Amino acid sequence: MSHRRILTSLAGLAAAALAVPTFAAASPAPAPAAPSVSTSATRAAYTGSAQDQAATKAFYDAVMKSAQAKRAKAGNAAAAVTVTYAVDAPTFRNQINSSTSIWNSSVDNVTLVEGSSYDFYYTEGNDPRGSYASTDGHGRGYIFLDYAQSQQYDPLRITAHETGHVLGLPDHYSGPCSELMSGGGPGPSCTNAYPDANERARVDQLWANGIASAAKAAYSK
Ligand SMILES: [Zn+2]
Repeated sequence: MSHRRILTSLAGLAAAALAVPTFAAASPAPAPAAPSVSTSATRAAYTGSAQDQAATKAFYDAVMKSAQAKRAKAGNAAAAVTVTYAVDAPTFRNQINSSTSIWNSSVDNVTLVEGSSYDFYYTEGNDPRGSYASTDGHGRGYIFLDYAQSQQYDPLRITAHETGHVLGLPDHYSGPCSELMSGGGPGPSCTNAYPDANERARVDQLWANGIASAAKAAYSK
C-alpha cells in the first residue's frame, strides 16, 4: 500500500503533502495532490455532469503534453504513437491489464504501454465522489479508481471508461450501455467494457496523424 492510500484517510495538509505514490519516488515530478483535495470542478467523474468536460480536457492535455515532450526528446516524430502509464492501483491490476488489451485490440493508431517513463498513472482509494480522471497540482494526469464505486458498478467498465478519456473521448452519460463513454449513465447493471464502433472510429480518427494532431482535435467540436 502506498503512502497516499494510507494517508488519504487522514485529514489535513500534512497528510496531503506526504502523499507520494511509491512508484513516483524516483520521478522528477513533485508529489501529486491527494484526490481528497480535488473539487468537482477539477475532475471528470464516472458518474457526473457534462460540466466535467473541462476537467477531462485538462487531464487529456496533461497526458498529451507529457507524450509529446518524450517524442520531441527522442527526436523521432515517425515513431509509433504510444501513451505510457504507471500503475499504483494494485486492487485493479487485472482490470487495468484487461482495459489495455481491450483498447489496444480496438484501435489501430495509438497503443497503451505500461512503463516507468509514464505519461499518466492509475491510483486507487476511497472517495465519496467515485472514480475520475484528473490532473494533480503539477500537471500530471491520473486516473483515480474508487473502491466503493467499483463494488456497485463493474470495475472493468469503470477502468476502460476512464482510459477512454486518455485516448480523447469525452463523457456521454445519456448514451446506451453499448457505449463505453456513457459511464455510469445506464446504471450499475451495465457491464459492457468495450468501446462501440463509433467510439473506436473516433479514437482512430483523432490519432490518425500522430500526437500533435490528436492533442489539438480531441474535445473540440
Ligand atoms: Zn468519464
